[in-house]
Amino acid sequence: MSIAEGIASIQNSIPSNVTLVAVSKTKPIEVIQEAYALGMRDFGENRPAELVEKANNLPNDIRWHAIGHLQRNKASMVTPISTLIHAVDSVRLYDALSKHAGEKLDVLIQIHIADEPNKHGFSADDFKKILDVGGDFLSPNIKIRGLMGMATFTDNNSQIMSEFKALRTLFDDISPTFGKDFDTLSMGMSGDWKIAIDEGSTLIRVGSAIFGSRN
Ligand SMILES: *Cc1c(COP(=O)(O)O)cnc(C)c1O
Repeated sequence: MSIAEGIASIQNSIPSNVTLVAVSKTKPIEVIQEAYALGMRDFGENRPAELVEKANNLPNDIRWHAIGHLQRNKASMVTPISTLIHAVDSVRLYDALSKHAGEKLDVLIQIHIADEPNKHGFSADDFKKILDVGGDFLSPNIKIRGLMGMATFTDNNSQIMSEFKALRTLFDDISPTFGKDFDTLSMGMSGDWKIAIDEGSTLIRVGSAIFGSRN
């Protein structure tokens, strides 16, 4: 399947309120240019150096999504160029981002929903407890726009469904705390975006189903 066919087949089957982020990590500039020429403006990268390099060499109207686990000492690299940081997985990272955020930075909180210890994120319970106590996410220049999660890598669709459902439930539970700008639920990748949308995703992060497999 070509890049054009990959994008079209997804765009044609997602609701209009869902954003497709094309995950271009490891792919060369020319490949991003091809997707850009087809109208794509949202791209996801997980390595800060690669994100900076690509942003410097591609059009300014691209919306860059920093999607992967982010080390605190790399916060200053990504904050000036990212439209949305998807993976705030600790209070310490949140604090590091706030130091470099400038006037305003949009972020998502990553919640650990998978049955895999190596995935990052707050547990749903821990995050709720932090919110109940209050006070840990008060930087005026950082706006928490929603939640992000990655389901277990498995063929078991009902497990994926229940993990996404849990994230959606948490999202609904806590959204009154954050108000109307809390509007983004980032869940779903190449293998599970259809399930994610059924469970209420508003943003899917799709790489290999558009650009082919990575090395
Ligand atoms: C790589 C990556 C994706 C895209 O993965 P595909 O399976 O290629 O669609 C999505 N989200 C995150 C956080 C990633 O690191």
